[in-house]
Amino acid sequence: MVSDKISFPARLSLARLATPLQPLDRLSRELGTPHRLWVKRDDLTGCTLSGNKVRKLEFTLAQALAEGADTIITCGGVQSNHCRATALLCAQLGLRCRLILRGEAAPPYDGNLLLDMLAGATVEAVAPAVYQRELESLLAAAAAAVTAAGGRPFVIPTGASDGIGVWGYVAAAGELQSDFAAADIAPRHVVCATGSGGTQAGLTAGCALHSLDAIVWGVAVCDNAAWFQRKVRADLVDWNERYRLGLSVAEWGIDVIDGYVGPGYARADTAVFATIRRLASTEGVVLDPVYTGKAFHALLEELPTGRFGDSGDVVFIHTGGVFGLFPQRSEVGCA
Ligand SMILES: *Cc1c(COP(=O)(O)O)cnc(C)c1O
Repeated sequence: MVSDKISFPARLSLARLATPLQPLDRLSRELGTPHRLWVKRDDLTGCTLSGNKVRKLEFTLAQALAEGADTIITCGGVQSNHCRATALLCAQLGLRCRLILRGEAAPPYDGNLLLDMLAGATVEAVAPAVYQRELESLLAAAAAAVTAAGGRPFVIPTGASDGIGVWGYVAAAGELQSDFAAADIAPRHVVCATGSGGTQAGLTAGCALHSLDAIVWGVAVCDNAAWFQRKVRADLVDWNERYRLGLSVAEWGIDVIDGYVGPGYARADTAVFATIRRLASTEGVVLDPVYTGKAFHALLEELPTGRFGDSGDVVFIHTGGVFGLFPQRSEVGCA
C-alpha cells in the first residue's frame, strides 16, 4: 500500500473526486471485441476545471501557496487546457495569473482562450517560432517583471508536468484501485493521452505503489516515443529526488504508443473526428481532437493487434479537453 511507503505532500482540494469509472458496453458490443472497455471520467473533475490538470494543480498550487506566491505564471498552446484550468483556479484562490501562449490570441475568443479571458488572466501571445526558441527566457522575464512590481511569482512548467505534478496521478491511481475493487475487475491495461508526460508518469508511479498489475500506455499526441521515454522518466526522477522517496523509478517500464500524432499537435485527421462522433453517439461521452480523440482512436486501432492481450478489461483515462472541440467546429463534420 502506498500509505505504508510514502506520504503525500500538501494538497488543496480543488477537483470533484472521485470521478466515475464507467463501462462502455454498447461500444464494446458494437466493436465485437472480446475486451471490455471502460472509461475513467476525469473529464468530470469539474465543469470548467474539467480534465487531468486540476489533479496535478492540487499539489502544484499547494506548493505555490506554501512559498507565498501571489502570481502564477504558466504556458501552453493558445487552446491549452492546462492554462485554462490554471487561470480559473487562480481566480478561485485569489491569485493573479499570467499566461504565455503559443500562437495568436485575437478576438473573437473561443474555447479555452475565452475562459482564460473570463477568468481575468493576463495573456501574452507569442509567435510559435519564438515560443519554441525562447520559452525559458520568456518565463524568467515574466517572473522578473512580477518581482520588480513587488509581487511573488511562481512558475508552473508546461502541463504542470514535473516532480510536483506527478502526485496528481499517483493519487488518481489510488482511486483506480478502489474503482477496480468496486467493479470487481483487474485490468491489465490502462491507456491515456500523453502530451507533457506528467499524467503517464503519475499513473506509472501510482500503479507501482498501489500494486496494480497494469501496463500504463501513453499515446503520444506530439513528438515521439523516444521523447516521451525521456520526459516521463525525467518527471519520475525529479519526483523521486525532490521528495527523497528512495524508490527505484529507473526500473519502472514506460510504454508509449506512437504513430497516432496525425497531421501534427492539435491537428487531427478525419478518422479521429469519426471516432469522436462515434463515442459521442454510442455512449454520450465526448472526446477532444487534441488529446483524448487521438488516444481513444489509437486504442480502437490497437485493440485487434493484440497489444492489449486477447481479451479482458481495458481502461481509458478520459483526461478532458472538451473546450478544444469548439474552435475546431468546422472540422468536426456534423454538417
Ligand atoms: C494536458 C492534457 C493531456 C496530456 O497530459 P500530460 O500530463 O500533459 O501528458 C491529455 N488530455 C488532455 C485533455 C489534456 O489537456
